[in-house]
Amino acid sequence: MVGGLSLAVAGMEALGFGFASAQDAPPTLTGGSKGKSVVILGAGHAGMTSAFELTKAGYDCTILEARSFAGGRCQTARKGFAHTDLIGNTQVCDFDEGQYINHGPWRIPYHHRSTLHYTKLFGVQLESFVNDNDAAYVYFEGGGGPLAGKPIRKAQIAADARGYAAELLAKATNKGALDADLSVEDRDQFIAYLVHEGRLSPKTLAYTGCDGRGFASPRGAGVNPGPGVASVPFALTDVLHSQAWKVLSSVSEDFDQQRTMLQPIGGMDHIAKGFERQVGRMIRYSTVVQKISQGSDGVEVFFTGPQGPGSIKADYCICSIPISVLKSLDLAISDPFRAAMDQVAYAPVNKIGLQMKRRFWEEDHAIYGGHIYNDIPGIRTISLPSSGWQGQKGVILGYYAFGAEAAAVSAKSPADRAAFALAAGQKVFPQYTDSFETAFSFSWHLAQYNLGGWAAGRTGATSPGPAPIQCCASRTGACIWPASISAIWADGRRGRLNRRGSRSASCTRGCRLREENVDARQHPGADDQRDRRPSSGPGQRSRPVHRLLFGLPPADRQGDPRRFPGPGGGRLRPGR
Ligand SMILES: Cc1cc2nc3c(=O)[nH]c(=O)nc-3n(C[C@H](O)[C@H](O)[C@H](O)COP(=O)(O)OP(=O)(O)OC[C@H]3O[C@@H](n4cnc5c(N)ncnc54)[C@H](O)[C@@H]3O)c2cc1C
Repeated sequence: MVGGLSLAVAGMEALGFGFASAQDAPPTLTGGSKGKSVVILGAGHAGMTSAFELTKAGYDCTILEARSFAGGRCQTARKGFAHTDLIGNTQVCDFDEGQYINHGPWRIPYHHRSTLHYTKLFGVQLESFVNDNDAAYVYFEGGGGPLAGKPIRKAQIAADARGYAAELLAKATNKGALDADLSVEDRDQFIAYLVHEGRLSPKTLAYTGCDGRGFASPRGAGVNPGPGVASVPFALTDVLHSQAWKVLSSVSEDFDQQRTMLQPIGGMDHIAKGFERQVGRMIRYSTVVQKISQGSDGVEVFFTGPQGPGSIKADYCICSIPISVLKSLDLAISDPFRAAMDQVAYAPVNKIGLQMKRRFWEEDHAIYGGHIYNDIPGIRTISLPSSGWQGQKGVILGYYAFGAEAAAVSAKSPADRAAFALAAGQKVFPQYTDSFETAFSFSWHLAQYNLGGWAAGRTGATSPGPAPIQCCASRTGACIWPASISAIWADGRRGRLNRRGSRSASCTRGCRLREENVDARQHPGADDQRDRRPSSGPGQRSRPVHRLLFGLPPADRQGDPRRFPGPGGGRLRPGR
């Protein structure tokens, strides 16, 4: 199921409810539901999907949700949306009616079948999300040569980089440099492919530009302007040193970023509202879970709710509380399980919405949606809205950065974050600052009930071993633990986990969580043997913030692209 979806379903599967996959079809639950109760922790997509499916199967579900609203990370900031972060900044969104920013999830790939199943079922209307735009600018100031620090159309850099690469390869192949690897027939076909791919001259195999990179003088009807004037390609050396080629694999290479991409009309939280219409009656809002204990007769969850402290007993518990929060709660778990949880790092992630009084990117630059990829630290991605075409105003995503850069920007006040974003965007669009009206920023690592955007890797890991994220997604006794621990995308990453190695095999080989589970259930007192940490609701923590809350790796690993694979390191990646 969700996050989200498929991992929660994977967890229910672990209870023996008997379905094989949640990727592209709703699960058919077959367990013995009669009179059985399930307490579900968290009303994000994972928790609400669990409640929806289990209720259909006859289970009696209750959801405990810390926030006063459902949806978890699936939020949309529009007029009146209020948020106070962990360092005390309170913001109330002041966008015009109809304007919004999805400061959490924002796009649905065409292959996220679970998510698309529920959007259809709940009547959540979708529209295209422009995830790639040939006309959008690329802006790299860290490179060298005349293109550094200049906005360049993606189509130009793509045509030239690919054209020159095809030319060099075609000429080398023609000279026989690849004869050891290609048969004569293959060599001819390969050259034909390169001519086609790079728009080369079939005679000279030279790249001299192409229509796809745009025109110096645009085409038009009649004789004036007529067929237009071709644009002149950048020099190969300038393309190479600009570093702008880093964007070229950013979208199409990554399965998660491929077109067609979708978004709910009017804001991502319409998906959450769709679920809430189904299971809202089961949700106890503003109810903060603090302790989970298990005994031979099921599970008891202790919380603080609107009426003060309380507890609820159930036959089963599905926990979708993010592990970044869960690790600070009072839990009946084994030491290996806790050790695995402690190794899971959550990424600092920032977004900011900037309301502009004029859609200058459309009117002055002919850019309709898409992303301005850049190498400005703390900014990395500027995104233009995929709706409201040719309207008066629009909300731009002013930055979307991860890791240490995000942690640094989030330390600023909301006003200073906006100023930071504006100064950066001004480098790309001269109209930026003058068009700005109001901003709303969100830092997921400073959100009390998330403490990070998503599980981003392992903290302080020094040796290879079973991924702790995979080990933690398991069942112990009556509890299914972080049902959405790998919730990098709302649709879940189950297929990817399986491609890298069987999750259950890893657990058995490494942490032996399933076996230990049984112990926890048979020995309810096992709780007392573990290393008790200062108890805590979220917000009361004794360990260094940058290790525990923000999930940052040790200082010497910060910026390591393996930890925070984002635009900051190595290959440019567009995020979630
Ligand atoms: C910036 C960003 C961009 C993203 N972009 C995309 C995207 O484009 N597409 C996509 O598919 N996915 C995206 N994701 C991932 C997606 O948001 C998640 O996979 C999904 O929302 C996870 O759902 P969940 O229910 O597992 O977790 P959550 O939504 O985090 O739900 C957990 C719930 O537990 C509650 N909770 C926490 N602590 C307690 C407690 N102590 N007691 C009770 N309740 C508690 C929380 O309030 C929350 O409601 C993005 C995430 C972020 C942060």
